[in-house]
Amino acid sequence: MAEEVRPGTCVVAVDGPSGSGKSTVSRRLATALEGVYLDTGAMYRAVTWAVLQAGADLTDQESIAKIAVETELVIGTDPAAPHFTANGVDVDGPIRGPEVTGAVSAVAAVPAVRKHLVALQQDIISSHPRIVVEGRDIASVVAPDADLKVFLTASPAARAQRRSQEDATDVAATEADLARRDRLDSSRATDPLRQAGDAIEVDTTGMGIDEVVAYVLGLLQVRQ
Ligand code: C5P
Repeated sequence: MAEEVRPGTCVVAVDGPSGSGKSTVSRRLATALEGVYLDTGAMYRAVTWAVLQAGADLTDQESIAKIAVETELVIGTDPAAPHFTANGVDVDGPIRGPEVTGAVSAVAAVPAVRKHLVALQQDIISSHPRIVVEGRDIASVVAPDADLKVFLTASPAARAQRRSQEDATDVAATEADLARRDRLDSSRATDPLRQAGDAIEVDTTGMGIDEVVAYVLGLLQVRQ
């Protein structure tokens, strides 16, 4: 079946809004390709955790940038268990909490934060021959030469339904929060969330994970 695709070197960029299925699909793709997985959203979240720990003002871009550069990140890339630490602290739980989720778009909008994290992301990509990278600006900024670029979407209702199931939160509140983050992520001046011109859009509404993974692996096969 399509999951047998195992090219020599391969960078796959998976962009899209929250709840579009990016993380699950990207991890499954990385496993199928016997490669690694990079969750760039978790990097922005880990820096946001450090900003909140430091008690910095979320409008003080200079302080935020300084914290981003000084935070020591250990970025796990195992698709089965992508663990993160920040300044030696295991942050896998806290970076998914409401405080970080509420603040991350503001931190991710700071140009110096993006510059720093994009450079780290590019280093990680260049040291792994097979990697699936998920985020918002992977195809357009981080890895414009990726072998395959997909842009995952889903209806707002489907995205909210998935996220609220994962996080055990109220669907209506989750839908409102996703809309708020989409607005901030799409309207920021530096590297906004947008579909790269050469990315293939996959609308995952009504599709199961197996179906999406098989479809994307099929796209990869066609390209080789
Ligand atoms: O993917 P996830 O929802 O964990 O991303 C959290 C936030 O990090 C996004 O809402 C966005 O503000 C930011 N982000 C970004 N660029 C990326 C990945 C995530 O700005 N490549």
